[in-house]
Amino acid sequence: MIFGHLPAGYITSKLLLKKFKNSSVNANVFIFWGMFGAIAPDSDLFYYLLRDPSQPQHHHHKYVTHFPIFWLTLLLISLLWLLLYHRRSQKAALSFIFTLNGFIHIVLDTITSHILWLAPFMDKPFSLITNSSKGVSYFTHWTFALEIFLIFFALFLWLASSIKKTKQKNSIT
Ligand SMILES: [Zn+2]
Repeated sequence: MIFGHLPAGYITSKLLLKKFKNSSVNANVFIFWGMFGAIAPDSDLFYYLLRDPSQPQHHHHKYVTHFPIFWLTLLLISLLWLLLYHRRSQKAALSFIFTLNGFIHIVLDTITSHILWLAPFMDKPFSLITNSSKGVSYFTHWTFALEIFLIFFALFLWLASSIKKTKQKNSIT
């Protein structure tokens, strides 16, 4: 997935924000860390591009930042931290949304590409796309429709939230 990660991060963060209504969690900070988590696994692209060219080439999905177990472990730790503080700790909430969106990134990558779901124990890639998709243009493939859907759903949520805020502001003044 290329374009869908950031909107997916926005959607998850925006929808889960309601769960932290009565806590000290700042909405904008929560959404920022959520969206940051949604693209964090691709930080391995920097390492991939800056690597020693004489070393053998690996797809960046073979780095630990694209291992499901990596994100799942961090997500479980964050969830425990969050539950321990009864959802009142901002740091725990930010850690939770960051790692949750990191894990969702891996799930979305599995739809459009190959992910080593059993790494580091097995080097077997898994994907939802079939071999029959090979040679099909990225922009005419069904997964591109999913990316477009995520973008439009995120835009819809953002617009709905902006209209609500404007109405609230007008009713106060
Ligand atoms: Zn990725």
